[in-house]
This record gives sequence, C-alpha cells and structure tokens, in this order.
Amino acid sequence: MDCLFCKIISGEIPGKKIYEDEKVYAFYDINPQAPVHFLVVPKEHIKSCNELTPENAEIIGHIFLVIAKIAKDLGLEKGYRIVNNCGEDGGQTVDHIHFHVLGGKPLSWPPL
Ligand code: 5GP
Ligand code: ZN
Repeated sequence: MDCLFCKIISGEIPGKKIYEDEKVYAFYDINPQAPVHFLVVPKEHIKSCNELTPENAEIIGHIFLVIAKIAKDLGLEKGYRIVNNCGEDGGQTVDHIHFHVLGGKPLSWPPL
C-alpha cells in the first residue's frame, strides 16, 4: 500500500521513533509546530476518523493512553494539545489516521 505512515511503521521510510507496541507507533513530526510535536498512529491502516467502526474504534482509547504515557516521559507535565485533522477541510494531508501531540510552550487558542 502506498501510504507514508505505513512505510514509516514498517521502517521502509526512516522516522524518529518515540514509542512502539503491538498496536501503535509514535514518532516525531518532520515539520514541528511546537517545541514538542509528535504523531501517534495505529499500526492498522485506518484512513481517517470517518473510517472508524465499532470493530476498530477501540484503538483510539489505547492511543490516548499511549499519548499520556509519552507526554509524561517527555516532561509535558504542564499540558499539551492532541489534534486530529480529518479530511480535506480538516487539513488532513496523510490518509492514515494520526493524532498530533503538541506541547513544550503555552499554545494559543483558537487555532484558526
Ligand atoms: P496532517 O496534516 O495530515 O494532519 O498531518 C500530517 C503530518 O505529517 C504533518 O504535520 C507533517 O509535517 C507530517 N509529515 C509529513 N511527512 C512526514 C515524514 O516523512 N515524516 C514525518 N515524521 N512526518 C511527516
Ligand atoms: Zn497507512
């Protein structure tokens, strides 16, 4: 499958890995938008939030637990932001569902 994040997970394309288990993979974003900016993705290729089903949605809870663990390990005790861009208007550019985690400074809101 011609998917950038599947290739990073398999090691075909190099990525700066932070964490991996049997279900998820976490790596630093190549174009960081905050002092700390990493991505957490399921190893299963799910295109976006719109392709979640009762059968595969359990992974999202696991991803949030992994995010909390990594955030603690990286010293983000003052907080962080989790972002999921879904579809064209949501700004999704890689069609493999992923959660951005941004932190390391106070973040502005709203993001528009
Ligand atoms: P999206 O815009 O789909 O929500 O997020 C895609 C993210 O993937 C962007 O923040 C972009 O910087 C990141 N990205 C794109 N290509 C690569 C790459 O080859 N390696 C890594 N580590 N991140 C990438
Ligand atoms: Zn993929």
